Amino acid sequence: MIDLSHPLDPDTPVYPDYPRVAVTILDGTDRPSAKGNARHLNSSHVSIGLHCGTHMDAPFHFFGEGQTIDRIPLERCVGPTALVRIDPDVHGGQIEPVHLSAAESTIRRTGRIVLDTGWHQRWGQGDYFDSHPVLSGAAARYLVELGVGLVGIDTPSVDRPPFEAHLALLGRGVLIVENLTNLGAIAADVFTLAAIPLALRGRDGSPVRAVAMER
Ligand SMILES: [Zn+2]
Repeated sequence: MIDLSHPLDPDTPVYPDYPRVAVTILDGTDRPSAKGNARHLNSSHVSIGLHCGTHMDAPFHFFGEGQTIDRIPLERCVGPTALVRIDPDVHGGQIEPVHLSAAESTIRRTGRIVLDTGWHQRWGQGDYFDSHPVLSGAAARYLVELGVGLVGIDTPSVDRPPFEAHLALLGRGVLIVENLTNLGAIAADVFTLAAIPLALRGRDGSPVRAVAMER
């Protein structure tokens, strides 16, 4: 099993205007509890943005009437997935249908796609959040036409304002998984993806533990 998720802690990189992961220790085996009793256990409280680290966007992220993250059928989050590697030359640019069409039959068959742009290698670097490649609106609409139900990518977002790709995908109920990592460890061009969100009632997204399973 290959872990495709970034670790979460207060140092996890986030957009400049976005709250960081915050951890509060409630009880610790190495110290007396706040209540002064003798419980020796570790217990913590975590505050985390739903679009922090490796996470899934639900349609409700952009559409008030859209499906919320707790309503996503889990079978859509697990299953065969086409891995498409994007030439590094596209960095700073746009992923267009021409970059995807060679894998068209595989994408159609699996109904899920993960894009390896190589950008995950820049996690933690200064330009990670503003210079990443994006999926063009045309490429997003092309994936919708192929019947895709989930699009994963190793960048912080599939696009930037005015969010043409987000709107095209989430508007058609297509799930988005962002901030994937470690995609170079996947050997096959079809693998089994599992990326299951928390059942956060009525919310717009969730951190996921994304993994690849190869046959
Ligand atoms: Zn998101």
